[in-house]
Amino acid sequence: MIFIISGPGGVGKGTVVTRLLDHVPDLGLSRSWTTRPRRPGEAEDAYVFVDRDRFDAHRRAGGFLEWNELPSNGQLYGTPVPGSDHPGDLLLEIELNGARQVKERHPDAVMIFVLPPSRQALEDRLRGRGDDEESVVRRLRLGAHEMDVGPGLADHVVVNDDVDQAAARVADIIRGRRDGRSRSGA
Ligand code: 5GP
Repeated sequence: MIFIISGPGGVGKGTVVTRLLDHVPDLGLSRSWTTRPRRPGEAEDAYVFVDRDRFDAHRRAGGFLEWNELPSNGQLYGTPVPGSDHPGDLLLEIELNGARQVKERHPDAVMIFVLPPSRQALEDRLRGRGDDEESVVRRLRLGAHEMDVGPGLADHVVVNDDVDQAAARVADIIRGRRDGRSRSGA
C-alpha cells in the first residue's frame, strides 16, 4: 500500500514522518530526487541531490512515479518508481501536485493531508526558519492554495497542532487501512 503525507511547506510533515517511522512498523520512506542544493547541515541522504540534466534523463527514462517543479523555488522534486525489493508499505512525503499524480496512477493510495492549526501558525513557522522575506511570501501564497485544494483531494485530513498527537492520528489511519486490507483479504 502507498501512504502519502502531503500538506503546505512549513506544516511539519517531516517531523510527523520521523515520528511515524519510529512508531509504525513495516513502513519504508521513499527517498526523493531533487535539483535543490543541499541546505547547510542537511543530511546527505535527505534526498538524492542531482543536477537538472540527471533529473531530466531519469524523468525521460520513466524513472519517476511523480515529479513536480515547485513554484515557490523553481526546483524539481520527484519520487523514484519504487523497486520490487521495497519491504512493507511505502510512505511518501510530497507536495500536493505530486500527491495528485500518485493518486491518478494508484487510486488506492491513501493521501493524508496535514493542516496547520491556523494560517498564522504556518506563517510563524515559515518565518522562524530564517528564510528571506520574498521566499516566505512565495511559500505562504503556495501554501494558501494547497490548503484550499488539498483537503478536498485527500482521504484524511490531520491538523498538526501537536506533533505527537498528529503523528498518533496518522499512525491510527495507517493501522485502520491495514486492518481493512487484511479483512478484505487483499
Ligand atoms: P524542501 O525543499 O523544503 O525539502 O521540500 C519542498 C517541498 O517539496 C515539500 O513540500 C516536500 O514535501 C516536497 N517534496 C519533497 N520530495 C518530493 C517529491 O519527490 N515529489 C514532490 N512532488 N514533492 C516533494
